[in-house]
Order: sequence, then structure tokens, then C-alpha cells
Amino acid sequence: MYDAIIVGSGPAGSHAAYLLVKMGYQVLLIEGRKTPKQSINCSGIIGLEAFREFDLWEVPILNRINKFKFISPGGKSFIYQSDSDLALAVDRSGFDSYLTRRAISAGASFLDESWVRKILTDENEVKVCIQAKGRSFELRAKVGVIAVGYGSSLLKMVGLKSPPRYIEAVQAEVYGSGFDHTEVYLGNKVAPGSFAWLIPLGDERGLVGLTTEKDSFQHLQFLSHKLQAEKDISRVTNLQHSTIPLGIIPKAITRRILVVGEAAGQVKTTTNGGIYYGMIGAEIASQVLNKAFQQNRFDEEIFHEYDQLWRAKLAPEIQLGLKLREIYSLLSDSRIDMLFNIVSMDGLLPIIKKNLNFDWHKGLISSLISNPLIRRLLSVKLQG
Ligand SMILES: Cc1cc2nc3c(=O)[nH]c(=O)nc-3n(C[C@H](O)[C@H](O)[C@H](O)COP(=O)(O)OP(=O)(O)OC[C@H]3O[C@@H](n4cnc5c(N)ncnc54)[C@H](O)[C@@H]3O)c2cc1C
Repeated sequence: MYDAIIVGSGPAGSHAAYLLVKMGYQVLLIEGRKTPKQSINCSGIIGLEAFREFDLWEVPILNRINKFKFISPGGKSFIYQSDSDLALAVDRSGFDSYLTRRAISAGASFLDESWVRKILTDENEVKVCIQAKGRSFELRAKVGVIAVGYGSSLLKMVGLKSPPRYIEAVQAEVYGSGFDHTEVYLGNKVAPGSFAWLIPLGDERGLVGLTTEKDSFQHLQFLSHKLQAEKDISRVTNLQHSTIPLGIIPKAITRRILVVGEAAGQVKTTTNGGIYYGMIGAEIASQVLNKAFQQNRFDEEIFHEYDQLWRAKLAPEIQLGLKLREIYSLLSDSRIDMLFNIVSMDGLLPIIKKNLNFDWHKGLISSLISNPLIRRLLSVKLQG
């Protein structure tokens, strides 16, 4: 019997496996897809804080992110340039492979092309039913960590709920020239209630994508035409569609089970980035599991600390991001244009520079909201 079976080798699952194995536990990491994963729908932008905190320096970097051009619906723009790198763009498949290899090198057992079809728990163990290469079998552990991303039926199977809402995310690779820095497009034609992006990856390659509540393909089509008219784009390829959770699950624990990463809603609701928050979730889960193993107790009460700690760290950001989205989604294109005027003309860029943190947005949101013009434009009070 394993100490822990972790289902899903995304950043949250592989990181949890690595941490638990380093603590001396016997861990099995199970992944449904073939590894290395061929293609993952993700832009791979990860803040520097995650690199420092989780020692990710061996991951191959595609680009350094320190300059953003924001473009309004009416074509107004401003550039935000940071004095140092804010984030790094990685090849997401390579990133996942690195994290999985790191867990395996530390001593984790690993199965890929193995789908977990069922998870059953009782007082003594967790049993996972696996389907792999035409055969079915069962494996057992003291605890199970569900790290399957958004939209899996495994949560329901163990009596837990999925995140309450989601947003659609579409992205494609573009080839051409003129991709100098990251561009962020706002407006109801490109991405109602959200934003679209063009991220240069070097070698005349980039990623174009957007998140929005519905009709994401139509909006991407609109954006692609707009970009093709403005830039020298020779090819748009590898179009992918996914959903990203908006909001957290009411409970991420049950007897012998913890849920980490996107499956728990550990995702920034401002930018929809989930890699860093999911890895934070994995860190907290592994610390609480360590205590549980030491006490040989795997009931809900001992796991309660996990639910408390990760919520205390991530929920205020996630909730504020949701509130901001709600308000922003009510803005007409002309109001978004007015917002651009305020930001570029009212000396707000230094304030943004001072308060911008790639992963934690409460400080920046509070400082912007304290500007009377922005407050009036949004006609609301955002509470921390
Ligand atoms: C277009 C787009 C762009 C994005 N850009 C960024 C970005 O730039 N930065 C960022 O931080 N985030 C970004 N995200 C979000 C990010 O991709 C996710 O939040 C992140 O992958 C979540 O990590 P995870 O480990 O929780 O889950 P996942 O990465 O989804 O990993 C879950 C794994 O579990 C496996 N699995 C699922 N079910 C089973 C099963 N039953 N049995 C076995 N295996 C199973 C899956 O195959 C998968 O490999 C983006 C998302 C999209 C859609």
C-alpha cells in the first residue's frame, strides 16, 4: 500500500508528489495522458515569485515578461514597463515534464496513460480504480490527493463539489513578425468581461488567446482578424479551448482525501493563472499531510487545517478578483476607453508601478480604487 496516491500530474499534483516524497513518504503519481504531454492549453506565464519559492530555475525559459501594452476598445493604448522581469514564459509541456521528472528523481512512482475512473474511501484506505492500456486494476493508499484540474467527476465521487463557475479560454499559436512585447486587449468585442492577449515567445512565434464567459471562438476569430490586419501574421495554428474555474470549492477535504490546484479553484480570478496558486495549495497540503502521517490520522478533522490555511492565503485574492470581474463586466466600451484616459493622463502609472505584484493583486486594486476618478467611473466600492 502507498502512503499517498496523487491523481493528476499537472503542476499541483507533481509538486505535491515531490514534496511528499522528500518528506520520506511512498508516493504514486498517476496521469491519464501520455507524458511528456503533447500540448497543453496554457500560456505558461509564471511570476518570478514562483521560481524563487519553488526553485524552478532549471525549467527552460521561452521569454522574459517585463513590458505590457494595454489596448482599449477604441484603440487607445498605454505601455507598462517594469524595471526588472515580472514573469517568465515557459513551454508548458516542458514545465509539467520537469516537475514530474523532479518528483520521480526524488523517489515517486509514476504511471502515465492511466486514467483513474473511481476513487473509493473507507476507514482504512483509499482505493483507486485505474484503466490503462486496455486493462483495469486497483491500487491502494492511506490517502488520496485529487489534482485533476477543472471539470473531473472524481470530486463528486468522493462527495465534494466542483468550483461554482467557470470561464472559457481559447488560445492559438501565431507565426509572423512584429510580436515585440506582451499585448493585452480589452473591450466587449474581443473579450467581454475579461481580456485577450498576444504573448511573444521568440523565433517569430506567439500565443494569441482570450478568456470570456461565452462565445470564446467567435471572439478569438474577431481578434485574429484584427491582428492579421495590423501585424504580419503568416499562420495561426493549434487552436485549443478549455475552461478555467472562477471561484473556490466549498470544501477541499473529506476522509482520506485532499483536493489541490485548479480542481479546488486555486486560480487567480483576475488573470486566470493557476500554476502558482496550485503549487501553493500543494505546499500547504503536503505540510498538513505530514502531520496526518505522523499522527496516523486521516479523518476530516485533521485535514481541516489544510482547508483553513489555503483559504486564508488565497481566498481574499480570489474573492476580490471575482468582485472586480463583476464590476468590470458591466463597463461599456466607452467606459473602458475612459478608464484608459484616466490611467494614462492622471499620473497613475507610477502608482501602478509601485503596487503591481504579478501574483497578488489586492494592493494594486486597492490603490487604483482609491483614485476618485476611477471610483466614480466604476460607481462602486470594492471592499477588501
Ligand atoms: C488558455 C489558457 C492559458 C493559461 N495561461 C496560464 C498562464 O499563463 N499562467 C498560469 O499560471 N496559468 C495559466 N492557465 C491556467 C493553468 O493552465 C491551470 O490553472 C493549471 O494547469 C492548473 O494546474 P493543475 O495542476 O491544478 O491542473 P492541470 O494542469 O489541469 O493538471 C491536471 C492533470 O490531471 C490529469 N487528469 C485529469 N483527470 C484524471 C484522471 N481521472 N486520472 C488521471 N489523470 C487525470 C490531466 O490529464 C492533467 O494532466 C491557463 C489556462 C488556459 C486554458
